Amino acid sequence: MPKGGVTIYCPKCEVFRPCKAISPTAMGMPSHRRWTRSDFGQVAWFRRCRQCLTCSHKFLTAEVEEARIRELVSLRERLSEKYKLQVRAIRRQRPWLRRNETVPLDLARRFVASTAWWLTHSSGSPVRAPGHADRIYQSHHGWAVDFGANTFLVGKAIERCTIAINEFLDVTASGQVPTRTEVAAAIKKHVSGAVANVEGHEYSGYYPVDNQDLVFGAQSIDVADAASFMIKESGIAELLLDA
Ligand SMILES: [Zn+2]
Repeated sequence: MPKGGVTIYCPKCEVFRPCKAISPTAMGMPSHRRWTRSDFGQVAWFRRCRQCLTCSHKFLTAEVEEARIRELVSLRERLSEKYKLQVRAIRRQRPWLRRNETVPLDLARRFVASTAWWLTHSSGSPVRAPGHADRIYQSHHGWAVDFGANTFLVGKAIERCTIAINEFLDVTASGQVPTRTEVAAAIKKHVSGAVANVEGHEYSGYYPVDNQDLVFGAQSIDVADAASFMIKESGIAELLLDA
C-alpha cells in the first residue's frame, strides 16, 4: 500500500486511495485555492489538486460545507424524475433503440427458475425460488427481472452465454475439446455481467459473485446453477472433458 497521502476517493480507480496534495499549477490551474461563486447564492470552496498514489491520476477537489453536497444530491434526484419521463418518451417513439430480444421467453423463464434462490427463507436454509420466472418483463435490455434495487438482465445473460458456447463449439469442432470448468467459468462471468441498477443502467463491469451467488438483498442468482443450466440446455455437455 503506497504511503504519503490522505485516503480519498480517486475518480479513476473508483475507490478510496491514498492521494497526495499537489499544487493546482501542476494541472495548469491558477495557484489560488479559495474560490467563490455567487450567481446562484453563495457557494464557496477550497480547491486542492490531488494525485492518486496508485494510478497517478491528477484531479481537483473542492472542500465545501456538506450541506452543498446534500443539495446537489436532492437537485439530481429532482432532475432525474424529469429525465426519466423524457427517456421513456424517446424510447417509446423509437422502438429500434430497444434491444431486439431474440432469446425465447420460455428459455429465459427456465433459466431463472433454475438459478433463483431465496436466501432468507424461514426454514433457515436458502430455498429455490422458481416463481421469479413469472416476473420476467421486456425492458430496453430485453428480458429482465427485478430483484429489489437491481435488475437481472436474463436475455442478455443468455445471449452472451450463447456466443461463448458457440466459440467453444467451434474450438471443439477443430478437435480441441474444452473442459467443463473452462466453459462453466465463461458462463459464470457472462451471467455476472448482466445486471443493471435501479435506474436500468447496466453495470460497466461484473456484479460481485459471493460464493456462487449474485446476491440481491434476500434473493440471488446462482452462477453455478446458471453454468449447469446453459451447459445442459446447449447440448455441449456430452462433448466436454471432465475437469
Ligand atoms: Zn487512482
